[in-house]
Amino acid sequence: MKKLLIPFIIFFATGTNAQTITIDRNEAIAGIIGNISTDSLKSYITKMVGFGTRHTLSSQTNPARGIGAARNYVFYKFKEFEKYAGGRLTSYIDTTMIVADGKRVDRNIILGNVMGVLKGTDANDKRVFIISGHLDSRNTNIMDSIGEAPGANDDASGVAAVIEAARVMSKIPMAATVIFVAVSGEEQGLLGSHYLATKAKAEKWEIGAMLNNDIVGSNNSNETNIINNTQVRVFSEGIPATADEKTAQRIRFLGLENESPSRQLARYVKEIGERYVDHIEVVLMYRPDRFLRGGDHIPFLKNGFTAVRITEMNENFNRQHQDLRTEDGIEYGDYIKYIDFDYLKKNTGVNVAVLANLASAPSQPQQPKMDTKELTNSSLLSWLPPVNGKVKGYNILIRETSSPVWQKKFFTTANSLRIPFSKDNYLFGVQAIGEDGNESGYVSF
Ligand SMILES: [Zn+2]
Repeated sequence: MKKLLIPFIIFFATGTNAQTITIDRNEAIAGIIGNISTDSLKSYITKMVGFGTRHTLSSQTNPARGIGAARNYVFYKFKEFEKYAGGRLTSYIDTTMIVADGKRVDRNIILGNVMGVLKGTDANDKRVFIISGHLDSRNTNIMDSIGEAPGANDDASGVAAVIEAARVMSKIPMAATVIFVAVSGEEQGLLGSHYLATKAKAEKWEIGAMLNNDIVGSNNSNETNIINNTQVRVFSEGIPATADEKTAQRIRFLGLENESPSRQLARYVKEIGERYVDHIEVVLMYRPDRFLRGGDHIPFLKNGFTAVRITEMNENFNRQHQDLRTEDGIEYGDYIKYIDFDYLKKNTGVNVAVLANLASAPSQPQQPKMDTKELTNSSLLSWLPPVNGKVKGYNILIRETSSPVWQKKFFTTANSLRIPFSKDNYLFGVQAIGEDGNESGYVSF
């Protein structure tokens, strides 16, 4: 794949310290991001909203209304994209019986996750990268499966990003597998993602990253009335949900709260997303999710996988989980008219950039080791080559302990390096660089 170099210059306020940042984009990946279309995104959300409600307990048989019709719609979109993929894309609805729980499921139902599995071109590469959104919607009463619940932003926006990612990504070869999924049952208790994550763990899927897109299409907040379509949040856990006491102790002792695999993924989303998508800032959120809310990444974290949540920067709570109505001059409801399709396009681009880079890059270096036997002001780092992919070399990544993002990179073709930076003052990571320049995720030392 050819590289595209877009150098530009940032002048610091003093004017004396000019630094040039080189934007180095893989041309094929930049090309598919350029194909992401606001018209396509709009057509998907229009169609999903048109099913009236997509409540998990709504009709599964009505061809025009309810979750069944919505599920079939997404399935047939994936089917349509199979023709671009040269036999690599397989679409299906993965169903399971959910038994009435006396809480948010009042009767036994068949739940279905719509899956598009885009096989990697390297048969030996078992890695899987997942992008998800939730197809189900709700209004004020969580058990109302009849009333209108357009769910344009929550979460037709996330599902539209998934469908569009499937459309553009089906056209390029990538070594590893990418799974596009529209889950159901999110509002009834993360049912679809719990089913998928549990299955993935039982079947030992090698999930490299899971990107949960939930509420990614609107640019403004209630109360604070902020309007902004240049920032998006990525939520990640600090101490892993599955960390045992010994691991948690080590994290406390060495100050590794920001080095979890999910936080490293969030950092990667920021670096790669901002590299490929203009006019978007990916804002790192050092928490698994927002207050009073959970999302489909949580079951993946609980099953030991690396997962993050991507959500718009400023939420409008008058439009989430609300019956359609006007009260005291305020309009409530999750209408399509409030979607900013240019913003949704950028957020979709961030996802595609991350997935395409990860799935095209080698896997992460193995067994990173830092020599901590001596009091030294240099640091000796070593690692083993990744399991998958041909490697051109490695980036050693460095940042101060208080910095959210990597500040320096050293390229090396060796498998160990002594660097003149003290392990007491800096945090280190390593990533593998493929022959075509694509970069793996980061592994902490
Ligand atoms: Zn949601």
